[in-house]
Amino acid sequence: MIDHDRRKLVLASSAMVTGAVLPVSSRAQQRSVMNDASGLSATPVFSHRILNTDTEENLIAALRAELKSATSQKRPVAIAAARHSMGGQSLARNGSVITFAAPRCDVDKSAGVFRVQAGTRWHEAMQVLDPLRESPAVMQSNSDFAVGSTFSVNAHGWPAPYGPFGATVRAIRLMLSDGSILTCSRTENTELFSLAMGGYGLVGILLDLEVEMVPNTLMRPEYERMDADALANRFLKKLADTAMVRLLYARLNVARANFFSEALLVSYTADPTPPEGLPPVTRRGALTGLSRSVYRAQIGSEPAKRARWVAETQGAPRLGSGVATRNTLLNEPVSNLGASPAGRTDILHEYFVPPARFNAFLSACRQIIPKAKAEFLNVTLRYVARDDTSVLSFAPANRIAAVMSFSQAMTSEGEADMLLMTEALIDQVSALGGSYYLPYRLHARVDQFHRIYPGAERFAARKRHYDPGLLFRNALWDNYLAV
Ligand SMILES: Cc1cc2nc3c(=O)[nH]c(=O)nc-3n(C[C@H](O)[C@H](O)[C@H](O)COP(=O)(O)OP(=O)(O)OC[C@H]3O[C@@H](n4cnc5c(N)ncnc54)[C@H](O)[C@@H]3O)c2cc1C
Repeated sequence: MIDHDRRKLVLASSAMVTGAVLPVSSRAQQRSVMNDASGLSATPVFSHRILNTDTEENLIAALRAELKSATSQKRPVAIAAARHSMGGQSLARNGSVITFAAPRCDVDKSAGVFRVQAGTRWHEAMQVLDPLRESPAVMQSNSDFAVGSTFSVNAHGWPAPYGPFGATVRAIRLMLSDGSILTCSRTENTELFSLAMGGYGLVGILLDLEVEMVPNTLMRPEYERMDADALANRFLKKLADTAMVRLLYARLNVARANFFSEALLVSYTADPTPPEGLPPVTRRGALTGLSRSVYRAQIGSEPAKRARWVAETQGAPRLGSGVATRNTLLNEPVSNLGASPAGRTDILHEYFVPPARFNAFLSACRQIIPKAKAEFLNVTLRYVARDDTSVLSFAPANRIAAVMSFSQAMTSEGEADMLLMTEALIDQVSALGGSYYLPYRLHARVDQFHRIYPGAERFAARKRHYDPGLLFRNALWDNYLAV
């Protein structure tokens, strides 16, 4: 698809949400329109099956039956979990969408891993790990998402000093388009392992994963305020100097007038003498110090953005010790962010920046973001170590990740504004040798995608090899890889 058509398609999808016609055929009752967390990805599908199977044998049989039927009717298939990707990455247009709904998680202490069914949500895995004093080595925020999705997008989190989640996955079992099942790892079926890690479900269906864990423990925070331009150095120094720093993030101020001028670095070190019994995991997370109402009040209000920064930099550090278990800090629900007001939606962006170019990235953001109509709500900065396993790697060298949250109007104007801002940010980050993240809106131009993901051509060719009938498809494939 040429770029011009792609842009029209992205904008048309937002028109669908804002009241235009949905192309739903009346002849097949199974047909429906599905969406994802953006609310902007309305996609007609042939069917959505929720597989609540009691045994693994039945799950495999149900998946094989679905693949056989889809193959014979030339229908695409996509696996969807919590559908928090934001550009139809979990949806197959006019295809079969499958969601797993029977979680399973077993801990193997002697091997230092847990074995988890791909559809298991992180908060469900936590319920198994926590009583055994174990914790996922890497986990994204938030815990509503499925472990299999985390591998499929190769998400990263704020545990340090790790690379993306895939770095802590020892093996996966993958069902290919012909229904065969292969174990894939760094020593077995290695090419499939590299394709499936961050491969958005395009080479096969993940059945389960073997994931590394670390001891759960009490963590104590330290807060440091500084000029934003001093952050990158301090961030790396903190990691290098303090072997005990195990969780690390930073934030920047977001009010338009002095945008990205100040930083707060929050680092957690493990308690050297943890008590015998740890408090059980809660679904509190790390954001709790910042109330939902303060977070949401930022939409359309510059004074509220300034007040939020004061609350976060001065209030939260004084609210108690901040000591919590690793599991409780990681187990953050999306609901901590509160609900979007009617007519608006939260859209995430994420950029991975070479640390040496981080201040140039901040300058580019100061030029581009405050001019946009979208309301900038938050940026969280993290460290991501190099990933040279996944074919669609977003971190070919160590990176500082900037996770940005915007609130945008669900209108064509809101969508066009977001698209233009995204393109401008990607151009800048690309010029700095960085990359952008793929699970969000499909606003990057096709040339930007291919420049930033040089493995994309090989990914598409090998996907065609393993899935010659192109059974596994979603909007990411349709927009960037199909041609
Ligand atoms: C509020 C919020 C916070 C976030 N925080 C982070 C973060 O901290 N770090 C980070 O890296 N990302 C983060 N993300 C992005 C997030 O990791 C991805 O959007 C992730 O995909 C969400 O998981 P999900 O269960 O909703 O996946 P879905 O959107 O349902 O699926 C995502 C992809 O995984 C594929 N997939 C799912 N299950 C399978 C399977 N069994 N077999 C094959 N393919 C499968 C789907 O087909 C799809 O391509 C965040 C997103 C949001 C909205």
